[in-house]
Amino acid sequence: MSLVYWILILNLWVFKASSLQAGSRAVLREIADNNGSGNDPKDYAVELNATNFDAVLKDTPATYALVEFFAHWCPACRNYKPHYEKVARLFNGPNAVHPGIVLMTRVDCALKINTKLCDKFSVGHYPMLFWGPPTKFSAGWSSDQAKSKLRVIDDGRTAERLLNWINKQIGSSYGLDDENFENEHLSPNISDPGQIARAVYDVEEATATAFDIILEHKMIKSGTRASLIKFLQLLAAHHPSRRCRKGSAEVLVNFDDLCPLDMWSSAGHDVDTTNMVGVLHNFHICGKDVPRGYWMFCRGSRNDTRGFSCGLWVLMHSLSVRIEDGESQSTFTSVCDFIHNFFICEECRQHFYEMCSSVKSPFKTARDFALWLWSAHNEVNERLMKEEASLQTGDPKFPKIIWPPKQLCPSCQDKGSSQIEWNRDEVYKFLISYYRNTLVSLYKEKGLLAEDGTNVFLDESSTNAVAVPVGAALAIALASCAFGALACYWRSQQKSRKYFHQLHSLKNI
Ligand SMILES: Cc1cc2nc3c(=O)[nH]c(=O)nc-3n(C[C@H](O)[C@H](O)[C@H](O)COP(=O)(O)OP(=O)(O)OC[C@H]3O[C@@H](n4cnc5c(N)ncnc54)[C@H](O)[C@@H]3O)c2cc1C
Repeated sequence: MSLVYWILILNLWVFKASSLQAGSRAVLREIADNNGSGNDPKDYAVELNATNFDAVLKDTPATYALVEFFAHWCPACRNYKPHYEKVARLFNGPNAVHPGIVLMTRVDCALKINTKLCDKFSVGHYPMLFWGPPTKFSAGWSSDQAKSKLRVIDDGRTAERLLNWINKQIGSSYGLDDENFENEHLSPNISDPGQIARAVYDVEEATATAFDIILEHKMIKSGTRASLIKFLQLLAAHHPSRRCRKGSAEVLVNFDDLCPLDMWSSAGHDVDTTNMVGVLHNFHICGKDVPRGYWMFCRGSRNDTRGFSCGLWVLMHSLSVRIEDGESQSTFTSVCDFIHNFFICEECRQHFYEMCSSVKSPFKTARDFALWLWSAHNEVNERLMKEEASLQTGDPKFPKIIWPPKQLCPSCQDKGSSQIEWNRDEVYKFLISYYRNTLVSLYKEKGLLAEDGTNVFLDESSTNAVAVPVGAALAIALASCAFGALACYWRSQQKSRKYFHQLHSLKNI
């Protein structure tokens, strides 16, 4: 009884906190949806104000930010807007040609709410443009160059000149006519392990996309419900993103109410799940503010390559290096069941199911599971290398390789032999450093994680959000796991048996 009471209290608390957290990324999302309130729907630059300025700039995945201070009554600003927008089109929004590099924003100093903010930047004329690392904007501008990491852009009066100025700063050669089928800037540098740091945003996006697909395709059924619960439990405990851990825990806490187990038993198989799907849609599994359409690490050189499936692999690898030994077998069945039930690519899930089914004995260590997943992914890579070469369907800039290549991990392969001889200890060490440490390093830099990488909640006082203590969140996750576990205990027992005792049946795929 008391457990239920505490869950309800904590649930309300977290729900309140999350509803107040609409600030930062929601603004980025709005522009992606083309319906930003106050913004012209066609605008690419993100309109900021005193209430969301710090949060958006702290939260953006972009490496640089550009802020235009203007006044809506200023005719020169109105004339400048099309120039600014021409450049913003390249960097902002879901179809950005060069995403994740520069966040272009504007602040209307003629609005009372922004008076202090504009003062902080000593805005002396309109429009006035500032450039710098996004996190450095919260301190405001100081004319002392040694103190301030920000720069005033003195030569950005036309779109061409502004883009030239940016190109000089970052050593790029972007043009105003660049189109997004040529993502030249993403020429793969596979020897740079630091690239994976950008993938944390992709992992969030892949998680949110997976959840959207599940709901849009009404994939929660009596036979798949338990596997979704198990996967959500895994996400709530081990997702590399704090937002997604929290969002998954919230969905779990409410799952039994929204999607009761007897929903199907009482009405047979033709259950109308529209209501349930509608309500679940309101739960944003990684928060409302997840950037969409950005695909940074997983961005292909063509619009139809990489993206979601790449993000899903990265999610699975990142989970595999975060679990404890005792969770290895349950994680294996969760991942196998999830792909089997919810990955909408028919060939992919069949192949993956076959690989899952060929595992003969239960996993005992996290290392074994992480290495199995790595090797299963390589099996897929190997098959696709041939297919893509013959059908020309691959991404020319990201050809499939047996991974990790020598440039990325020299010690992973033993020297001498013409065939690859893996040193599995070194591969495991590399997986840990790549998917556990480097993956979240950007988050650490931005203060979204504690130094030790533990589950710390961000102090978002600048956004009027309520911070939820770690203990409370963990309690929710644990309590919801306990509930979920009770609800699906019997079913999960049945499911895990499937992989070891009834390997041949693919009829449900
Ligand atoms: C479960 C699953 C099964 C799939 N099955 C098929 C299929 O049968 N047929 C098909 O056409 N497509 C399949 N796909 C899609 C395919 O595997 C790729 O995801 C897609 O082609 C995009 O490829 P990519 O170049 O982005 O690299 P991906 O293969 O998606 O890999 C993403 C990133 O993971 C890293 N990586 C690569 N290999 C490994 C490894 N062995 N271990 C750890 N990290 C690695 C690399 O950094 C790479 O950039 C499947 C996807 C998933 C998630």
